[in-house]
Formats: sequence, C-alpha cells, structure tokens
Amino acid sequence: MKAAILGATGLVGQRFVQLLNDHSWFEISALTGSDRSTGMAYGAAVNWRMETRPKENVAELTVQPSDPKDMDADVVFSALPADEALGIEEAFARAGHAVVSNASAHRMDPDVPLMNPEANFNHLSLIDEQRRKRKWDGAIVTNPNCTTAVLSLSLKPICDTFGIRNVVMSSMQATSGAGYPGVASLDIIDNVIPFIKEEEEKVQRETKKILGGVGQSAEFNVSASCHRVPVIDGHTEAVFVQTEKAAQPEEVARCMAEFTAEPQKLKLPSAPERPLIVKSEQDRPQPRFDRNEGHGMSVVVGRVRKDPVFDGVKYVALGHNTVRGAAGCAILIAESMKSQGYI
Ligand code: NAP
Repeated sequence: MKAAILGATGLVGQRFVQLLNDHSWFEISALTGSDRSTGMAYGAAVNWRMETRPKENVAELTVQPSDPKDMDADVVFSALPADEALGIEEAFARAGHAVVSNASAHRMDPDVPLMNPEANFNHLSLIDEQRRKRKWDGAIVTNPNCTTAVLSLSLKPICDTFGIRNVVMSSMQATSGAGYPGVASLDIIDNVIPFIKEEEEKVQRETKKILGGVGQSAEFNVSASCHRVPVIDGHTEAVFVQTEKAAQPEEVARCMAEFTAEPQKLKLPSAPERPLIVKSEQDRPQPRFDRNEGHGMSVVVGRVRKDPVFDGVKYVALGHNTVRGAAGCAILIAESMKSQGYI
C-alpha cells in the first residue's frame, strides 16, 4: 500500500521515513512539508537526525504541499503541528483518505478513535460512527501524546486485572519530544525543566479516553507532573497506582509480563512480541539501555513494588517517545485498520 507522510521533515516525520524504509505492507509514495521545503528534494530539505539514512528513492522524492488533490496514497500519516493538522487532516479524510495522526488536534473528538492498539483495539469501531456523522469515506484516527502512550500501555493489564481507582505519574521526558530544534541546549544541559506546555492536561484526559470503553471515559483519576530532562530519546515515568482490588507487586509484575493483545494475535508487522517487558534488576529501566526494546515498540517496566500511600503499587516505565510514543504507534494503528478492513 502507498503511504504519504505529512510533515515529513520534522523529528516524527523522519521517524516515519525510517520505520517505513523496509516495511512489508507500506511503501512511501509522497512526503509533505511547509513552504520552507516544498519543491525541494526530500534529502536536501530535511535536517536528518535519525541513525540510518533514508532510501535513495525516498531522498529523491519532491516535498509537496499538504494538499489532498492528486495525492497518491492509501494511508496518510500525519506528523503536522497541531494547528496545521486541524484543517489539513479533515481535508484529507473528506477526500477519502485514511489519516493516522500524531497531532493533538482531533484526539479528543468523540467520534475519533484515540488508539494505543494493545490497549484499546476495539475503539476502531468508532470509525463507522465518524464516517456516518461526518459523511466522508476517509477516516481520522489518532495516536496518543508520547507520555500517554507509555503510561496507558503499562496501565492496561492492571486495569483489566485489578481495576484502577487513582493514578499519579511523574515524568522525565526526552528532548526529542519537543521536536527539532526543540529546547535550546543552554536551557537543557545540566538542567531539568519542570514544565511542558499542556502536557499534563493531555496525559490526564487521553489516558482516560484510551482506557475507557468505546465512547466512554474511564472513571479513575489521573494526576500527572511532567518534566523535561537532558535525554535524547525515551520518556521515563514514575507511576503510582491505587487499584480497586488488592494487588501484590509480584501479581502486577506477572500480569504485565504476560500481557499480549489483538496486535500480537494478528501478528501485525509492527507489534512487538512483548508489549511490556518487566525487568527484575533494581536499577532498570534506563533510557540509554532500554529504549530500543521491541524495536522501540515495547514499554519497559521495572521496580514494581508496594506503594505505602495508596496501599497499591508503584513502578517505573520507559518507552521510546518517537517510536511507541509517535510514528511506531501510528504505523501499528494503520496495520490494525488494514486488518479490520478500514483501509
Ligand atoms: P517538528 O520536528 O517541529 O516538525 C514539524 C513538521 O511539520 C516539519 O516537518 C514541518 O515542515 C512541518 N510543517 C509545519 N507546518 C506545515 C504545513 N503547513 N504543512 C506541512 N508541513 C508543515 O515536530 P515533531 O516533533 O516532529 O512533531 C510533529 C507532531 O507530532 C506534532 O503535532 C507533535 O505534537 C506530535 N508528536 C510529537 C512527538 C515527539 O516525541 N516528538 C510525540 C507524539 C506526538 P518544514 O520542516 O518543511 O517546516
């Protein structure tokens, strides 16, 4: 299938290009950028920050404006800034394209699935309602904010097995989460920045949408405190959970380690064998050593232990913010849509 990437020159756009380089289902057919780069060859327009080079035929593609007219694509991946995404993604869906978006613009629309496929595969059914309501043949499906992607995946088996009453999460987020060039080096080296605009609100509402039923928000409370740290890739999160039913740390660790879902059953190409990898070493996970587990699609959990305040459990979770938290999650969503006949 042909895949277009909107906002292909940014950090998430580049991660899409890298992950789709050798994808068995999708082939890159079009790349878009802002006025800064349209008309240029992709290789010349992009300030490439990934570990491996894009293929020659992709580097030679001309960067196009983000206009659905004459766009040759079966699926459209969006890595646009939220303000731009709002109207552009609707225009693509109206023109009949399946859009999978990283942007926050449509995440909380009641008829738009907000998906982390292992956590809420069944939310795909919202596409039928969206098509009926909006009278279009295309679709908009979104992935979560990067911090929410890590948190919601780690909470899913706890939610299913024990029920959740309250969640508190404190994050240590990588600089790549701010896009390129992101935070100035003089601000982030030797420092921690205890504020990321709108991040806490996103984590609090998106986690509840993902872990709720179709069209319903989960009833538990989420409190997030988000911080930027001098790490390039990989968001680390300290999570404290009050469960509905009593839960021992060993039982929680076991249900996380054994957790698999629909993408694993369907053997989707981007589904990691283990969505959650539970480490027993007392000093893991660490971003430098653990962010590429499951090709960046697994969330690595460690230090699962009793929480004396909540009489629940606490643990540390780590995930790759531009793979599980962005492009990789979007590609897994597109594979999920294809498997259910939505593409
Ligand atoms: P970024 O590095 O700043 O890249 C922004 C991209 O958007 C560039 O390719 C830019 O193109 C393009 N762009 C801007 N205006 C455009 C327009 N009118 N038409 C077409 N392209 C346009 O940002 P990023 O980190 O990749 O983030 C992209 C999106 O993903 C954002 O909505 C962000 O919130 C979301 N997200 C990011 C992460 C993460 O970890 N970084 C995780 C989850 C979600 P030019 O280079 O041509 O100007």
